Amino acid sequence: MTARILDGKALAEELRADFQKRAAALATRRHRPGLAVLLVGEDPASQVYVRNKVAACAAAGIFSQKLVYPADVAEATVLAQIAALNADPRIHGILVQLPLPRHFDEQAVLEAIAPEKDVDGFHAENMGALAQGRPRFIPCTPYGVMQMLAANGVDPLGQEAVIVGRSNIVGKPMALLLIHAGATVTVCHSKTRDLACHTRRADILIAAAGKPRFITADMVKPGAVVIDVGINRLPPEAGGKLCGDVDFETVRDVASLVSPVPGGVGPMTIAMLLANTIEAAEREAGR
Ligand code: NAD
Repeated sequence: MTARILDGKALAEELRADFQKRAAALATRRHRPGLAVLLVGEDPASQVYVRNKVAACAAAGIFSQKLVYPADVAEATVLAQIAALNADPRIHGILVQLPLPRHFDEQAVLEAIAPEKDVDGFHAENMGALAQGRPRFIPCTPYGVMQMLAANGVDPLGQEAVIVGRSNIVGKPMALLLIHAGATVTVCHSKTRDLACHTRRADILIAAAGKPRFITADMVKPGAVVIDVGINRLPPEAGGKLCGDVDFETVRDVASLVSPVPGGVGPMTIAMLLANTIEAAEREAGR
């Protein structure tokens, strides 16, 4: 079997037309959606992510503001900026690019964002609402994965779903979304004994561990749907290219559907950030 490719880039482009329409409609009502992105430090991957997010806003007609701080900035300075953005009527979404430098209390920074502008969905109030099945904002990466499944006719209802990774930004919200969609969900992590025994049972396998190509064909059930969330840069001696957590070339011979890296979940994460920002502006406009 050769798997069909879950093309996140194409789906994100398809969604863009809808975003442009909604953003333009809001702009005519003087509610042009606005996103503020805060970047602290010079992590090269974070710089690329922020640049891509800002460019995607421009392409969709969303106002964006990029605020960059040196790595040694005081936490109080960033908190004061967030407070100002919370009160800024041009801004409907606030995103703090993670990870933050070590001297930051990451959770305190995320909690400083007004929950109604928390377009990443990481605020405890929004995570709680998601856990209860009444989300205000769905975290962008798992939201993108759910959209990719739906667009490709994959209904999680009654399926065995296995997630590798239990982070607050991917694994846990992914598990909640799949539970609410009717899947039977297993969450694996670094302490899981015999990972392959779990992954081999999966009808839907989500890899989000940040380990290059570590999901190999022998760990995948024939015909499974495999979504690769991982983004890893190979060392220079291995070509320095981006790759996922899934060994794409071997897994595509076993799976029925597989997402590539790049061009899979990454573009959908950005698309869902735009969706959440527009939704926040629509809520504000509807008040
Ligand atoms: P994280 O480091 O916070 O979490 C990794 C998780 O993987 C942990 O729960 C850990 O227990 C688990 N894990 C690590 N090694 C394991 C192993 N050998 N077996 C089983 N589980 C193991 O990472 P994260 O922020 O959740 O991100 C995961 C990956 O997804 C990274 O590669 C990251 O770059 C990528 N990512 C991609 C997007 C996107 O838009 N595509 C968005 C966010 C994160």
